[in-house]
Amino acid sequence: VPDEVKDEILSAVKSLKWGVYPDYNSVELKDVLSEYTGVPPEGILVGNGSNEMILSVYLAAVSRGEKILVTSPTFAVYLLLGSIVESELISVNLTEDLQFDAGALIEAKEKYNPKLTIIPSPNNPTGCVLTPEETEKILTAGDGITVIDEAYIQFTDNPDGAAALIDKFPNLVILRTFSKAFCAAGLRIGYILTNPLLAGEFRKTILPYNVDIFTQTAAKVLIERRSLIEKTIEIIITERERVYSELRKINGIKAYPSYANFILIEILGLEPKYVYEQLYARGILVRDMTSYPMLSKAFRVTIGKREENDIFLNELINIMER
Ligand code: PMP
Repeated sequence: VPDEVKDEILSAVKSLKWGVYPDYNSVELKDVLSEYTGVPPEGILVGNGSNEMILSVYLAAVSRGEKILVTSPTFAVYLLLGSIVESELISVNLTEDLQFDAGALIEAKEKYNPKLTIIPSPNNPTGCVLTPEETEKILTAGDGITVIDEAYIQFTDNPDGAAALIDKFPNLVILRTFSKAFCAAGLRIGYILTNPLLAGEFRKTILPYNVDIFTQTAAKVLIERRSLIEKTIEIIITERERVYSELRKINGIKAYPSYANFILIEILGLEPKYVYEQLYARGILVRDMTSYPMLSKAFRVTIGKREENDIFLNELINIMER
């Protein structure tokens, strides 16, 4: 986050009354989010990271023993919270080349009628996306609420995501976060976009005053100053494509195309753990994915600055071609 934006946030927070509770309904923040997303403020809920929003949706929509449909491999928090609410998780694998299997998802939705379906698009940890047509078909199939988690949506070629479908599909819930494209994971702020009816139900599961004055202010300023931050998104996308094409030249690995700010890499020529440890010993921390279904040979690397990406590529080449 540029220093000028940080300074603006700090001076705005300094001028507030810290002895007073934050705005219960985050009205000002919802207004700027509404202008940013095109969704009316009554359909927006904000929280302490999108993780809190996922919990809110689960608590409101799923009771013990009811079904949640997930894709696999997926974001681990969906599974963790699914066991906390004692739901029955049903998972639909990605295709062999790690793309969403929309046909299988639709079939599963119709067969099991889950209370909730939750899909990250782009997917964490693989980076694949649902097409708009696939999203609509999934929303039409079966009953229940469908959550599209758009944590990484700003890194795709459709940064507005599925927000425009909210009017058309009363069962659609979209999750967003400030942790990725807005470079503000440390602030802990996420939000839900949906219709006012569902927003009102989810609201009941969120603790009062869950978003403090610092975070409400910071999020509002970040949205208002987004043109300064959007430059970083462009750089990350350009770097992602460059790193991907460089990775494709390295023998013994398979890189998967990604619409997020990371790339999933399978290590075929060597033991994946060995490559992970070698990178770590050289000061590079990637995310070991080998315990995830379908990913027993994979790790995920986050796109960094150009210099950092070059160091990563060079060291990976050194390790693979030793
Ligand atoms: N959804 C997905 C798909 C994610 O990958 C993450 C974080 N890795 C989150 C949600 C959680 O984000 P937050 O920091 O807003 O809790």
